[in-house]
Amino acid sequence: MLSWEQITAGSTTAESRQTVLWEGDGGLCQRAWVEIDLAALTHNVKQLKNFLSPQTKLMAVVKADAYGHGAVAVSQTALSAGASWLGVATIPEGIELREAGITAPILLLGASHTAQQVKAIAQWHLEPTICTAKQALIFSEVLVGLNQSLPIHAKLDTGMSRLGTPWQEAAEFVQLVKGLPNLKLASIYSHLATADSPDTAVMKEQHQRFQRAIAQIKTSGINPASLHLANSAATLADPDLHYDLVRVGLATYGLYPAPHLQNVVGLKPAMQVKARVTQVKTIEPGTGVSYGYQFIAQRQTIIAVVGIGYADGIPRNLSNKMQVLIRGKIVPQVGAVTMDQLMLDVTDIPDLEVGEVVTLLGKDGKNQITADDWAATLGTISWEILCGFKHRLPRVAVSH
Ligand SMILES: *Cc1c(COP(=O)(O)O)cnc(C)c1O
Repeated sequence: MLSWEQITAGSTTAESRQTVLWEGDGGLCQRAWVEIDLAALTHNVKQLKNFLSPQTKLMAVVKADAYGHGAVAVSQTALSAGASWLGVATIPEGIELREAGITAPILLLGASHTAQQVKAIAQWHLEPTICTAKQALIFSEVLVGLNQSLPIHAKLDTGMSRLGTPWQEAAEFVQLVKGLPNLKLASIYSHLATADSPDTAVMKEQHQRFQRAIAQIKTSGINPASLHLANSAATLADPDLHYDLVRVGLATYGLYPAPHLQNVVGLKPAMQVKARVTQVKTIEPGTGVSYGYQFIAQRQTIIAVVGIGYADGIPRNLSNKMQVLIRGKIVPQVGAVTMDQLMLDVTDIPDLEVGEVVTLLGKDGKNQITADDWAATLGTISWEILCGFKHRLPRVAVSH
């Protein structure tokens, strides 16, 4: 197999066109990859940590493979930068971090119910979320059988209508949990439904419900060791919501939950998605491109084929609507995005060569394409774009 160096040998400006074998490529001739800027992650965590009061801890939420960034590398980086907790959705996500040698406390944000799950949680020292009395009873019973205690986190529903005991029943629920053997009540928490909205009415209502529930819990004689409520948006929106811990996902990765929260702290996107040109050809006016001929050349057009497609996480609904960067210039994508490949109109890029790097998300020269740009085109949110990048794309750590 030819290396990219061999393929692109003879290119006079190879350096400037980034056609050299990319450092860290390991000679694997990768057609496409995700670059994770660990320095950007460190910067984001430090910025967020500086924004918090000294007694507020920061949890890096690393569920869904750290929103597509790679859970182990992100967790290690975030912990070195000042995070002291990690949050995952599932037990396997937690085990992956433990197997990598991570010893920081890990909160399981999802709910667990079976004896098998309790055993796995106990074995791997994960910290479960308890949402109902029934769950609490199962956990206690299984843990007594194992002769092991576990810190647990009681979840209240203050208006998200997702996991948690209804806030009106919080005091009874926490009383029950507190009284069960082998459960150590480590925190009480809730989750906000509209923290990214400029209209703060619902968020304030949820906060009031949380405060009332906590007041009732305290009246019943229980003083919770830790309280938490804030996701990224709430963290940026209002320091009153920080409590003892903030659970920050999106902002860790350098994206803002909403435009009006952009000026609070300076964040840098940590993910760039890149691929290489795999063929360049000229087509005549009237020639169709890709499945369904969504694009027909109006002029003599130079087409570049790029080795990345919807199976890698490029949404097919961006077909004919997205732009990419080559040599710092904005280039339109044309025709349907296919499973493994997509096409570009590179008529305005002189002498483009096979092996040159295409930036799909990220910065090249003065131009930048963000997950927010894609989300706006698609009518979705940047969270979904980030965690859409599949394992077929290798994650490569860089520090810019
Ligand atoms: C995913 C999640 C978060 C992080 O949300 P971001 O908006 O990405 O910061 C926080 N808390 C809970 C319960 C979550 O499920």
